[in-house]
Amino acid sequence: MRFFPARIGYGIRRDDATLPAHTVDCPDCGSRMAVPRLEQGCEVHCPTCNHEIVQVEKRPYAAPLAYATASLILMAFVYSMMFVTVEMLGVVSILSLPEMMRLLILQDFGFLAEVMFILTFGTPLLYLLLCVYVYGALAWRWRLPALFWATRVLVRLRHWIMVDVFFIATLVAHIKLSSVAAVEFGPAFYLMFGLALMLVRTSVSVPQHWVYYQIHRMRGQDVAQAAEPDKICCSRCLYFRPQHEAECGVCGADLYRRRPNSLGISAAFLAAAAILYIPANLLPIMISSNPTTVEINTIFNGIVYMWKEGDHLIAVIIFCASILIPILKIISMAVLIACASVCRPPMSAPKMAVMYRLTEAVGRWSMIDIFVIIILMSAFHTNIARVVPGEAALYFCLVVLLTMFSAYFFDPRLIWDKWHNRAAISDGREHAHDER
Ligand SMILES: [Zn+2]
Ligand SMILES: [Zn+2]
Repeated sequence: MRFFPARIGYGIRRDDATLPAHTVDCPDCGSRMAVPRLEQGCEVHCPTCNHEIVQVEKRPYAAPLAYATASLILMAFVYSMMFVTVEMLGVVSILSLPEMMRLLILQDFGFLAEVMFILTFGTPLLYLLLCVYVYGALAWRWRLPALFWATRVLVRLRHWIMVDVFFIATLVAHIKLSSVAAVEFGPAFYLMFGLALMLVRTSVSVPQHWVYYQIHRMRGQDVAQAAEPDKICCSRCLYFRPQHEAECGVCGADLYRRRPNSLGISAAFLAAAAILYIPANLLPIMISSNPTTVEINTIFNGIVYMWKEGDHLIAVIIFCASILIPILKIISMAVLIACASVCRPPMSAPKMAVMYRLTEAVGRWSMIDIFVIIILMSAFHTNIARVVPGEAALYFCLVVLLTMFSAYFFDPRLIWDKWHNRAAISDGREHAHDER
């Protein structure tokens, strides 16, 4: 078990930030473990699968509040200042992020405007406001209403913040734009880099297990938890709850030892993603036109075209984000589902656990291509040069979402169960052999 002691003198010490010693079941491998008393600046990892169980920040109350407030201020600037200026044949487009969304709606691509609005503005804003609400209440011991609800929503929103993906997409679009137009980044672009970093920092400084513990404590509720046979350790908040509860009384997640029908649901989402991946690649994803020519590109054509034009870096990035990651994700989910279904999985559980975590982590980066199209559409929206998304854009969005759902519904503990069973069977055989 990795256990990092707190450094004395760093941060403001508050006795009430300490998490007492208790027992949890690891949500990734299902093994039961004793968590020691954790002080500020300590974290604990699962001894079996190395999953981070819980951490207590060095400044557990002040840091998330400071990061969230800084992010909110940055966000106000990012969304009100100029993002990028594109000049082509004497026509200048001055684009801010709200202006880009307005152009998408004007061109009747409201779906893309919604995707952009939700992933780069709606979720981060709600996330930050809830963060300030929950941490404000904890820091000053205010008994605000609906703190549990706010924490539930906060934790769920974390995976749907894609400001960092949008920032990288802007860099990719810039390489493509600068070959045909004069492009100049505005202050909002540079501030967006800071915002993306701040959002990542905020989201890693909010350990839900510790937050729920603090809310309980503040309300004077019994927070001691013991592993009892008729209780199930919730895989989201890590509290032991009576097994008759359908939904965890703390975090509202479905309560189960292993997710029911996990493999079936995960396989269904994966199959749908694999089927939609075909039209996503065969149909045009982007149509660019100017008064003399119309260019219709599929994902693959586009990459080949960029490579031939000498844009090797952008071709490689788009190839990784749009072709390699979705294919690897579909293959690795299929391997994981197959391994969790057969009696003797060919791969070891630690390897499969790493594969699962990677699959879960890289999925959202496939949205780069969609964001690139959104940026190009807003930059080229005149009769001189116009870019519109093809039908494949919608299918591609769906493939990304469906593979994310497939990974979400897959219960990683199933691979460890198979692994332990296999080890038990071979132990039993050896034992029988010895007795003979
Ligand atoms: Zn574990
Ligand atoms: Zn829970």
